[in-house]
Amino acid sequence: MGKEIPFSEKKLEEIKSEYPTPFHLYDEKAIKENAKRFLNAFSWNEGFKEYFAVKATPNPFILKILKDMGFGADCSSLTELILAEEVGITGEEIMFTSNNTPAEEYEKARDLGAIINLDDISHIPFLAEHGGIPELISFRYNPGNQRAGGFIMGNPAEVKYGLTKKQIFEGLKEVRDRGVKRFGLHTFIASNQLDPQYFIDTAEMMFELAVEVKERLDINLEFVNIGGGIGVPYKPEQEAVDLEVVGQGIKSKYDEIVKENNLDPLAIYMECGRMITGPYGYLVSEVIHKKDIYKKHVGLDGSMNDLMRPGMYDAYHHITVLGKENEPKTETYDVTGSLCESIDRFAVDRDLPKIDIGDTIVIHDTGAHGHAMGFNYNGKLRGGELLLRENGEVMQIRRPETVEDYFRTLDFNKLKDFE
Ligand SMILES: *Cc1c(COP(=O)(O)O)cnc(C)c1O
Repeated sequence: MGKEIPFSEKKLEEIKSEYPTPFHLYDEKAIKENAKRFLNAFSWNEGFKEYFAVKATPNPFILKILKDMGFGADCSSLTELILAEEVGITGEEIMFTSNNTPAEEYEKARDLGAIINLDDISHIPFLAEHGGIPELISFRYNPGNQRAGGFIMGNPAEVKYGLTKKQIFEGLKEVRDRGVKRFGLHTFIASNQLDPQYFIDTAEMMFELAVEVKERLDINLEFVNIGGGIGVPYKPEQEAVDLEVVGQGIKSKYDEIVKENNLDPLAIYMECGRMITGPYGYLVSEVIHKKDIYKKHVGLDGSMNDLMRPGMYDAYHHITVLGKENEPKTETYDVTGSLCESIDRFAVDRDLPKIDIGDTIVIHDTGAHGHAMGFNYNGKLRGGELLLRENGEVMQIRRPETVEDYFRTLDFNKLKDFE
């Protein structure tokens, strides 16, 4: 089993000759095809909307592609709101799902007319003071340790997000008393999950909650947002979530619960990030050194600054050595960057073909939480982002950082009088 790259060796060498490595390269065609599959799987639900989680790939060109496909934006910070605004995503095309939210972020979200998804009951008066309470309010539900649909949902009781079930009812009542006319509920309890049943169970839990809200408060919810969390098959032996199975599974729960209780129409919202762009981005880097000590190390011109996941989570990212796809994997390498940190490794004990200095290394599935999680520790500069257009052209959608960028927040002139 393997994982293939969607560009030829010749094409990638051409791109490399124009743009310096390391860079993340995104495949526009594949992003669009996947987005279409996603929307198709839920086309049965009239109000369905996917709010792309901006944090996964906060690049305006990626957001524009997704906006044109009909996606909204899921934002959780001031700068994510501004990014959405720059791309022309405003109003209820934005779901503002934040937590521990600073006042200025609520104010900006209100300016943009975003759907506000409150993470705590105490944020009702806080929002009233900072931006004001809109006509439509959503709350983030944290189901705690309860089982949903016979499936154990990790352990939401341990995390900081959302309201308890009791608070959901108190909160809805309180905002109704404050004049709110439209209501939604949200939850987000999965992460990088590859089992389709998880999402069907989450939807079921939210549909049942909608029924309870109707019974106890006589409120008809406008939407339930079942969050993101659809996983990426990072390992070659893993399989992508079958979106059709998820869509149809949720549809049958919808018919059984929502329709049966006369709550139709109820819009389903999602806010996936990872699976929307993750598999369609590649970190391209070049081998600059090799060293053989107790282990064999291959050193790239990219570092953990460009892709934090392997170091931070021990996450697996598949590696293709360009032009050596069909060579036997006779060597075992650690593939490293140049940070003074032992965890600065893209792969540990990875079986790969024999690698030479100058080889091009393609690291798979970096389209989400790749460049986005980049950082400047050790004074390392982040690489750029490129977009492979549908017509085969390549566009730089973010230039690499420069030394000037890095020093921008410092004023060396102040050093003159500093003793
Ligand atoms: C991160 C996040 C998402 C997206 O999660 P994925 O795993 O990328 O699908 C959605 N909603 C919220 C509130 C998030 O914090």
